[in-house]
Amino acid sequence: MFKIGILKSLVIHLRTSIRLIFIILISLLIIGFLIFIVYKPMYKVSFQGSEIGYTEDKRELQNKINNYIEKGDSKTVAFVDVEDKPEYTMCLIKKGLVANDNEIFNIIISSGTPYYKYYAIMEKGEEKYYVSSYAECEEVIAELKNKDSKNQDDVTYSLKYEPELKDFTDTATIVSALYVKKPVVKKSSKISTSTTINYSKVSLGISLIRPVNGSITSRFGASSYRRSSRHTGLDIANSKGTPIKAAAGGTVSYASWKGSYGNLIVIDHGGGIQTYYGHLSSIGVSVGQSVGQGQVIGAMGSTGNSTGPHLHFEIRSGGVALNPQNYLY
Ligand SMILES: [Zn+2]
Repeated sequence: MFKIGILKSLVIHLRTSIRLIFIILISLLIIGFLIFIVYKPMYKVSFQGSEIGYTEDKRELQNKINNYIEKGDSKTVAFVDVEDKPEYTMCLIKKGLVANDNEIFNIIISSGTPYYKYYAIMEKGEEKYYVSSYAECEEVIAELKNKDSKNQDDVTYSLKYEPELKDFTDTATIVSALYVKKPVVKKSSKISTSTTINYSKVSLGISLIRPVNGSITSRFGASSYRRSSRHTGLDIANSKGTPIKAAAGGTVSYASWKGSYGNLIVIDHGGGIQTYYGHLSSIGVSVGQSVGQGQVIGAMGSTGNSTGPHLHFEIRSGGVALNPQNYLY
């Protein structure tokens, strides 16, 4: 009897305990459920000592920030120099509160220094204009080359990473601002270097004076081992530097180096008549210049196919060489 009594009280006791545990479990479940309805886990974000908001996905947010810091916006911002890092703290937040990832992103990014990527267009190394792309630089260079701008070789560009953004200029404006017209070089008119000669005296319609005094060292029509053809002029020797005068007034049609002539001046006297002054040591006139009879145009020399200082003097009519001694000397 006694044993049964103990067993009975034990069973009653156990039932009470189980009921109690059950009640506790149910209560916990209800509390947990209530918490689940009202709260949710989130990350509190702190930056530079102050709370700046909440995010549900700290990894995604931090990736977005890191990406912008390293690579910018793939347009003008190349990268951002941000010194501080945000801190994330896990906590339970009332459900009404919304994550503000974008705001957090902007606060962190704008705390840094953005470095802009752009190109400087330079003339002789000096920054003149700014553009945003490599293609625009190439366009400016190509267009200046295409227009044969005088400064085309002085214009270059360089990639810049700077914390300040410059004003960009469109390529058409840059090209028209940089374009420099090449000076028109007056080309020497065509001169005859043919060996056609005429021994007879033809009327020139003008009177000539001696371009220089000296001794005649080779006459018109002479043949020489130094030449493949007959001599188209008259050689008058004197000392190097002796002034050479224009035999008649006219316009300079050639004033430059010309093969075996060395430094050559040709003066047009009109009516197809020209005088040639070869082997000069220096040229004192330029193409297109008007010269008067007797005006000093250069100095005697030995340039070109020459063995000593002398003037090679020619008179030509319609390109045909005439004998200077029919008129002078
Ligand atoms: Zn000669």
